[in-house]
Amino acid sequence: MLNAMNRIRWIFAGQLGAQFDDGGRLLLIEARSAFGRRPMHRAKAHLILSALRHRAAELGDRVEFHQVLDYREVVEGRTDLEVIDPTSYSARRFVRRLDARILPSRGFVTSEADFAGWADSRGGRRLLLEDFYRSVRQRTGILMQGESPAGGQWNYDTKNRHAPPKGAVTLGLPDPWWPVEDDIDAEVRADLDRWQAESLVHLVGADAPRRFAVTEAEANLALDDFIVSRLNDFGPFEDATLTGDWTMAHSLLSAPLNLGLLNPLDVAERVAAEYDAGRAPLASVEGFVRQIIGWRDYVWHLYWYLGEEYSAANNFLRASTPLPASFRELDARAIEANCLSHTIEGLHDHGWAHHIQRLMIIGNWALQRGFDPVALSNWFADMFVDGTPWVMAANVIGMSQHADGGIVATKPYAAGGAYINSMTDYCGGCRFNPKVRLGEDACPFTAGYWAFLDRNEAVLASNFRLKMPYASLRRLPDREAITLQERMRDGT
Ligand SMILES: Cc1cc2nc3c(=O)[nH]c(=O)nc-3n(C[C@H](O)[C@H](O)[C@H](O)COP(=O)(O)OP(=O)(O)OC[C@H]3O[C@@H](n4cnc5c(N)ncnc54)[C@H](O)[C@@H]3O)c2cc1C
Ligand code: SF4
Repeated sequence: MLNAMNRIRWIFAGQLGAQFDDGGRLLLIEARSAFGRRPMHRAKAHLILSALRHRAAELGDRVEFHQVLDYREVVEGRTDLEVIDPTSYSARRFVRRLDARILPSRGFVTSEADFAGWADSRGGRRLLLEDFYRSVRQRTGILMQGESPAGGQWNYDTKNRHAPPKGAVTLGLPDPWWPVEDDIDAEVRADLDRWQAESLVHLVGADAPRRFAVTEAEANLALDDFIVSRLNDFGPFEDATLTGDWTMAHSLLSAPLNLGLLNPLDVAERVAAEYDAGRAPLASVEGFVRQIIGWRDYVWHLYWYLGEEYSAANNFLRASTPLPASFRELDARAIEANCLSHTIEGLHDHGWAHHIQRLMIIGNWALQRGFDPVALSNWFADMFVDGTPWVMAANVIGMSQHADGGIVATKPYAAGGAYINSMTDYCGGCRFNPKVRLGEDACPFTAGYWAFLDRNEAVLASNFRLKMPYASLRRLPDREAITLQERMRDGT
């Protein structure tokens, strides 16, 4: 019988930080097949390979590092393995077929057991983010003054979420911290070039320069920089978009968090300490803490709570439109709508877009046009540097595509051009007009919104939160013409 000391811990690409290392022997496997299953953004492939290879270099003699075609070559038949439960259903199935000791998952603020306890304690009531978030604040004491939330309120949304400053091209913040590439990055790039030339992988998008942290040291530099230069503006401009400012005041920390390089509780505590020290406004600090100990954990736990079949079994709106080539190849030039074109261009260049671009531009577009939700989930997972299966269920299937019929979000995140016009500066540079719904200048988001409501009337009209929009739709004099017009437009 092997004791814990004799075992070697196989760490995965989401487990690369110190929080997954208890000091024993470690196993790292770079399996090329993981990059060849579906088309992938080149920046994402680069990031993962760079992170794995940097970790192997850091660990030196403590790690057994393999570069192989398939994981099975290394792990099958071994009896000395230990794993921290990995982050997807397929990976969990795989490790359970091995003769491996499995430890509870790490890398989140609330454990799976604590979440199950919280969910069970609700006796069948809805699992609302707000309730979960408050329970985590109470349990961790983050932004708490005794039993009360710091400042007397749990939520400062009314002070956050401003429109972008009028006439501004950027938020005027200093450039974020950027990594300096090294020999490992050069080697990764050369390998990707070779794999591409030999048609071993299908990569899309640009891969230069690397923009996201791949080591714990880099991730901490990125966090320090965010705290000093962007945290104060995070809250007010959380939902705003400017064409000239691709990062706005966002933290760019999702990739290092999902690689396991940052402990989310540490991140939340460091940010909360800025409020305690009087260096950052409560509204921004609370807004950010909510993302980390609230949303990120909530989405992780819902992935397990909703079950593996949740994504494939739910297609409430019977959406089946295949993803267009402009999405599959990240070809912004093929897209006329300025907001979508700019967002896809940014995704092509960086493998990243901020939350509102993901939800209200890409997701909204896909929802309006009835993109197949599973195909869209796979695309989000493959095209974003921070993409991973557990993020997709609640964010894409539930929130963005309403494919679950209201389990995660009570109404679809569909919006017309007026919303985009109020929160971005895209419309000024667009050939369409957000106020126009019919004719040459008709904004595809505005007309698309009405066409979406029209197409899904049978299943959505009874939704209490859509009563007003449906009343407006029924009053539209040109309803039929709009739906016909949108049916004639192509999928891009
Ligand atoms: C359709 C859609 C797809 C998404 N895909 C991903 C994804 O593949 N990977 C991913 O990590 N996030 C995803 N998100 C959530 C969120 O958009 C990104 O975490 C965020 O944009 C990353 O940029 P940032 O690190 O600068 O985040 P910030 O705006 O600085 O937010 C701070 C952190 O909060 C966490 N966070 C905030 N909201 C969420 C959320 N809804 N779900 C999970 N974490 C959240 C992230 O860890 C993020 O780094 C998606 C959201 C939507 C609507
Ligand atoms: S007019 Fe419509 S399509 Fe053009 S940028 Fe505005 S919302 Fe997007």
